[in-house]
Formats: sequence, structure tokens, C-alpha cells
Amino acid sequence: MSDIIKLLPDSVANQIAAGEVVQRPASVVKELLENAIDANASQIQLIIKDAGKALIQITDNGIGMSATDARMSFERHATSKIRTTEDIFSIRTKGFRGEALASIAAIAQVEMKTKTEEEELGHLVRIEGSEIKEQSVVQTSTGTSIAVKNLFFNVPARRNFLKSTQVELRHIIDEFHRVALAHPDLEFSLYHNENELFKLYKSTLRQRIVAIFGRKHNDQLVPVEEETEVVSVEGFIVKPEFARKKRGGQFFFVNNRFIKSSYLHKAIVEAFEHLLPNGYYPAYFINLTIDPERIDINIHPTKTEIKFDDEYSIFAILRSAVKHSLGQYNIAPSLDFNTHPDLEVTSLPTKNHPIKEPSIKVNPNFNPFETSKPSFREIQKTEQFYESFNLGTEKKESISIESSLTELPHIQPETAENLFFDDMPSSSKSMQIHQKYIAFQVKSGMMIIDQYRAHQRILFERYITLLNQQKSLGQQLMFPISIAITELEKSLIEELEPTLTQLGFQLEISDETLLIQTIPANIEQRQVTEIIENLMEKNAYPTSLGQIETIALSIARSTAIKRGQNLTQQEMEHLISELFATSNPNYSPEGKSIFLNLTLDFIKTQLG
Ligand code: ADP
Ligand code: MG
Repeated sequence: MSDIIKLLPDSVANQIAAGEVVQRPASVVKELLENAIDANASQIQLIIKDAGKALIQITDNGIGMSATDARMSFERHATSKIRTTEDIFSIRTKGFRGEALASIAAIAQVEMKTKTEEEELGHLVRIEGSEIKEQSVVQTSTGTSIAVKNLFFNVPARRNFLKSTQVELRHIIDEFHRVALAHPDLEFSLYHNENELFKLYKSTLRQRIVAIFGRKHNDQLVPVEEETEVVSVEGFIVKPEFARKKRGGQFFFVNNRFIKSSYLHKAIVEAFEHLLPNGYYPAYFINLTIDPERIDINIHPTKTEIKFDDEYSIFAILRSAVKHSLGQYNIAPSLDFNTHPDLEVTSLPTKNHPIKEPSIKVNPNFNPFETSKPSFREIQKTEQFYESFNLGTEKKESISIESSLTELPHIQPETAENLFFDDMPSSSKSMQIHQKYIAFQVKSGMMIIDQYRAHQRILFERYITLLNQQKSLGQQLMFPISIAITELEKSLIEELEPTLTQLGFQLEISDETLLIQTIPANIEQRQVTEIIENLMEKNAYPTSLGQIETIALSIARSTAIKRGQNLTQQEMEHLISELFATSNPNYSPEGKSIFLNLTLDFIKTQLG
């Protein structure tokens, strides 16, 4: 038999290698952004067409390349960032494998223009499927501009595998966020189909987070800072009450490189322990600065995974830094743990913060105002249930908290109904306080309900049910409502459209406007604009809720009775009974407490 083994031609080898580095347009965006940063750029502009399927163009004002380097940069294992194996252990750049440009050039049509500061004229290299098509001198400014066209043009299987424009754009935006958050000191802009999605100026990390995710984030951030010999921790955690039910909003950077680490995530989760309802994820933006010799970033081609020399110390430092911040900003229970060593293992409520998601099941037909006794089906976690009624107080109410803790194990689920309404006078009236709250007597003392949050919870569940029933209850509008939308909003609406249609909306989406022709029957026309705008804002960042939940929440928010609205006796009673028929009367869909229970015991300790 003759010899059959042959070396693969470079173009084939590159294409195979490309599969590891370039999964989708967003991977190209990531690599090119990182190259620009490694080239010391201070301004980076990203232009995308068709979610990167047609064009990804990135222009930087970095150091540029000489003619030879420009040509060399597309060779596999061609890098200016390391020379010897030892260098791998002290990497301070984003790239070092010398694979990105070679991989990208193997599966796309690439044109690069680059110029160094010393040179008068720059260089152009055009390469398609690893084949050099043109090399020439060109007029261009200092820095590098790379245009990547028709990604996977020569690998139809991969091209067909790409997801919808919205999905691919979402991935690109996510990568853009990661890089932009890791480098608030640099200027970034992002355009999609000629629309400006982001324009980010040099700023602090806090300002960058706000610039990306919206102004309301400013109040949600708590700084974290800790410097040790092993590692410096710096960044922000998001206050527990803004935690979300889904992943998203977790950003770890190591030496300004975005990384994924479930191990470090766990350190933060532990620090947040007892402060988040079950199933909620803490959100954070944390940068760890570590001597590059103490880490190994070489374990994954996309370099998002990392190994630490001293994992355990980093875990402990991070956890304690976050705990410290939570405590300092009075988010953690303000109890003196030294005098109550037992308390740390128990979840304690605080004034503004939900603790755990209580899972209470109640009878949907239950009405506390009926004279016949209601029957609760079950209270799953009496402990949490009861805890959530504790009045969080700024003062150290060790007496009342202690006593309620010791009482907990003795509460029998079957007596749950007695907690509230057993001996409530049937003539008991509710009272509206400052047009915001509803107060009424219950067996254990007195309950105060936030009317807006209560109604939000009720409507939220109602719309989720409606959506899940797939009933379309549209009412045709005489005059369609028109809302101006940006490119980003357009893609968000397109993503949500099937679900909106399911609910009874009929939309016509064009480049700059959204026309609403039909709306769900139980929504008033004047509320529609607010609902849609709310929805688009809610989605300007990776959202924690699923689509159905997001839409339900947005409608609930816009249509719930507001604070400041007068309620009749009957309306109040109706609201209360509907609230306790929901699956989770304790918390609003956004995780905020709906009511407060002033126990007789507590009142007694206060009044003596
Ligand atoms: P790596 O970043 O791992 O070195 P790449 O394939 O991404 O590999 O890039 C190869 C080389 O091309 C880099 O090492 C760098 O010298 C050069 N290069 C790439 N992009 C730029 C840029 N935007 N500005 C200047 N030089 C660049
Ligand atoms: Mg690179």
C-alpha cells in the first residue's frame, strides 16, 4: 500500500481551527475588540450589519501594524504577544494564541487597513478564505480597521446554523457589554444597520454600568473593594432587592478579561446567603486583579475559563469582601452576631429586603372577609412565611426577633388560618393610609398592604395565566397607535412579537415605527404606549424573566392601581382577597415585599 498520510493545506487547517474560535458573529466581535484593546486603542468603533452575518467592521486608533505585520497577522500562530513558553505565564494582553485573525480569514472575506504612527501611508490586506487577494498601500489614519464580510461564506453548513438576526445581535451586544464593562476607561460605540445602539465615553465603572444598563441602576449598586496580597477585588454588587430570577447580570473580570466561573459565582452566592429569595441570582460586576503568574487562562480557546493557583483563598477573599459590602451598606441584618452566635444560621428579615421566596399555597377562593372560616390548603414553609411578617426595624430588636425565632418550630401548618383571621371581627373595616397603603386588623395584630404592589402581583399572575392559555383577546383599534422605535427596540419587539400576538396584540413593525393595530380586550387604549415603552426598557438589558413573565410584568406595572389612588372600602376588600388568592402574596413580581405585619407582640415591645 502506498503512503496515505498528508499534511492538510493551511486553508483547511485554518478552517478546522476556526471552528473552535469562531462559533458565531459575536465570537468575531469579541476577538477583534480584544485585538484593538491589545493595540492600546482608546477609541473603538464597531459597525455591524445584519447581526454580523453581512458585516462586522471594527476601527481602532491603536498602534497599527507595519506592512509585514499586516500580512503576518493572518498566519496561524502569528502573534506579537508572546515569544516563549514562559511568556504564557505572564500574559497581560487579551490575545496570545495568534489564532483569531487566521481563523476569521479562513471563513470570511476580510479587509484590513492599518497604519502605524511613524508611517505616512498605511497598508491594505484583502484576504478571503485564507487566500490573499490584495496587498497595497492605502491612505488611512493611525490604527487599524478590519471589515469582516459574509461570515462562513465558504462553510454553508455553519452559515445555515446561525440563529435569527435578533438572537445573533443579542450575542453581539452581550460580548460588547462584557468588553465595554471590562474597560470603562476606553471609548466604544456600536452601530447596527446604521443605527447607533451604544456610544460609551471614557468613564468610571459605575458610570459605564449606568450607561449600558440604564440610569435606575445607579441606586442599585453597592461598591466592593478589598486588597490583599493574593488578589484585589473591585467592583459592584447589585442590592439584593434587585436580584433576578434568571441568570444575567453576573460579570466577573480577571485582569479586565471577562471570565465565566461557577466557582467564584458560588462565593458571591454564599455571601448573599439569606438575603435572596430562593431561585434568585445575585448580580454583580467584579474585577479581580491577580498576578498573571498565578492564573492559567490557556484552558479554553475562547479564553473565558481560567484556572487559579490558589482557588480557595480567592474564593474566601471574594466572599468576605462581598459580605463586608453587604454589611456596610446595611443590607445584611444589623444584628450583633457575637452576642447571638446562633442567629447566623437562621435567615433574618431586614427592613427593605426580601429574604427567601416564600412558597405558600393558599386557597384561591379564600376571602378573609367572609364570615365562614377559610381553609388554607397548605403552608409549605411556615418558617419563612412567618418570618416574612416580622417587622424589620433599624434598631436591634433582639427581643422580638429572638422570640419569634423560638416560636417558629411550634407553629403547626394546620393552624395557619388562625394566624390571621380567626377572631377577626367581621365588621372590621380596612383603612387606606395616604392613598398608598391599606391597613386592617388580623388576629396576630395588624397588616399593612402596599396597594400598588399588591395589584401588580394580582395582575401579573392573571396575565401569565392568560398568556399560557394562548387566548387571543384582541380589540381592533380605530386609529392604530404609532410608537417611534430605535433599531435595538425594534429587534427586542421582534423577539417578543409572537408572545405579544398570543396576548392579543397585533403589531406592524417597520424600521422606525411600531404600529399597534389590535390590543388585548382588557387593556385600555391609553395604557398601551406605556406598556410597550415599559417593555422595551425592561428589555434593554439581559432580562431575568422569561418572555411571558416580562410581558405580564410590563402590563401589570402599567395597569396596576397606582399609589395616590383613592380606594373604596369594597375595592380594598376585593384587592386583599385577590392578593391572598395569588400564589405568592408576600412579594411583588419584582421581589419587593407587599405587606407588613405589625404583631401585637411587637407593638407591645414598642409601647411597653
Ligand atoms: P493574538 O491576538 O492572539 O496575538 P490574533 O490573530 O488576534 O492573535 O492577532 C495576531 C496579531 O496581529 C496580534 O498579535 C497583533 O500583533 C496583530 N493585530 C491584530 N489586530 C490588531 C490591531 N487591531 N491593531 C494592531 N495589531 C493587531
Ligand atoms: Mg487576538
